[in-house]
Amino acid sequence: MMKRALLCALAAACLAGAAPKRPKLVLAIVVDQFRYDYLTRFRSEYSGGLARLLTKGAVFTNASFIHVPAITAVGHSTILTGATPSISGIVGNDWFDRDEGVRVSSVSDAKTQLLGGSGPGSSPRRLLVSTVGDELKIAGGGKPRVIGVSLKDRAAILPAGHMADGAFWFDVKTGNFVSSTFYYKELPAWAREFNAPRPAEKYRGVTWMGHKMPEDNAKLFAELEVAAFGNELIEAFAECALGAEQLGLRESTDLLTVSFSSNDYVGHRYGPDSPEVHEVALATDRLLERLFLAVERQVGAGNYLAVLTADHGVAPTPEVNLARRMPGGRIDPASIRAAVQGALVKKYGAGEWVAGSFDQEVYLNQGLIAQLKLDLGEVEREAARAIQALPHVSRVYTLQQMIQGGGVRDMVSQKVSNGFHLRRGPDVLAILDPYWIVGTGTGTSHGSPYSYDAHVPVIFLGAGIRPGQYHGAIAVNDIAPTLATMLEIETPSGSIGRVLTEMLVN
Ligand SMILES: [Zn+2]
Repeated sequence: MMKRALLCALAAACLAGAAPKRPKLVLAIVVDQFRYDYLTRFRSEYSGGLARLLTKGAVFTNASFIHVPAITAVGHSTILTGATPSISGIVGNDWFDRDEGVRVSSVSDAKTQLLGGSGPGSSPRRLLVSTVGDELKIAGGGKPRVIGVSLKDRAAILPAGHMADGAFWFDVKTGNFVSSTFYYKELPAWAREFNAPRPAEKYRGVTWMGHKMPEDNAKLFAELEVAAFGNELIEAFAECALGAEQLGLRESTDLLTVSFSSNDYVGHRYGPDSPEVHEVALATDRLLERLFLAVERQVGAGNYLAVLTADHGVAPTPEVNLARRMPGGRIDPASIRAAVQGALVKKYGAGEWVAGSFDQEVYLNQGLIAQLKLDLGEVEREAARAIQALPHVSRVYTLQQMIQGGGVRDMVSQKVSNGFHLRRGPDVLAILDPYWIVGTGTGTSHGSPYSYDAHVPVIFLGAGIRPGQYHGAIAVNDIAPTLATMLEIETPSGSIGRVLTEMLVN
């Protein structure tokens, strides 16, 4: 009898242990412009946070973005919503707003003011769906704390969501970490205290990879972003937010999103094969370990859940690719706009036919088209023909075609469709041949549907996760519903991802 009672007690204990306790903190890390192959190429040199993730985490070796354009705002809006741009409405870093008749950014908001700097602020108002942070807040009656940090406003705001307590980013005009009146009446005291000793100015005259930081403040603040120094500031500010906001120290689960931006600035300027990209990856590894240790000191090892991914990859610098007998080159975005304007003037007469153009996306002057009683679909087709005639344009999609659901059915078309919001999308969108980038001058870029831009790391670390390598193809959109399941909260409203059950203990 005694024996049976003991067995029952043991069984009950096992059952209780079967449901892992919810983490006190979720740390969502984004490295801006980090290709999957940076994990494998530099693996032997990682000994910090990336090594920890690779050895103790659940590593998805074939995670990809399933939309175009593969760029910062779009990637950041996907990670914690699980939504595609066709649903979230975040179709680019910038787009032409047909209602407002102006160019807008993904987070621009004229109704807000910058805190810690001057001028208009930013907000998540253009994001049409909820984030993991929003669902945490709703489930916890507002108690969970949600904070976003980055150098870029969109990279701090979009992962954190609508109900976030605060989002903070770096202002190159002042060298301060700033926020917006969307979140606060004034910058929190702890953020003011962080800015007070002017941490960005300590890099004046310091050299990184042979590049000396300028003396002049305005130049210094912009230039330190294009060095590991920008990431150092992000890590320091994230640690400060962690302590000041007492994240992970209350009943509920809190969320801290940190996006490291310097990797993107360095990658654009020097290219993925440069010593600079190699070095900033190693610096990120060291900084991540510092952040993990700070989190562990505060909430205890095993009490937090970390996830790391990137917002996009990057194309090889065209000159580097050509030197290794691979294809590639640059297309001037002005030539795309000019081709459309020229063709429409020739066909329909004089007029400003282009309302706005962004890389390979062209918004037509729909007002003029309506005024002249022209058929929009026909004008779009004319514009598409003009772009298609340019060298190295793989295909062109039109708004009318997207509305009707037409087009070639393959990976590229699927990504275009996922990235296309019918109200915010352009009239004409070009997809270039692989390795061809939009831009002039030097350096490189990203945005295409191809693997070098789309294939990124996804790694989970923490209680409830089965460590190891998972080689099946997944979408970055799967992160959000997986987190929601682990946290026992509602799935973010626009999520199209699946739960990564293969890595869950229960
Ligand atoms: Zn970029």
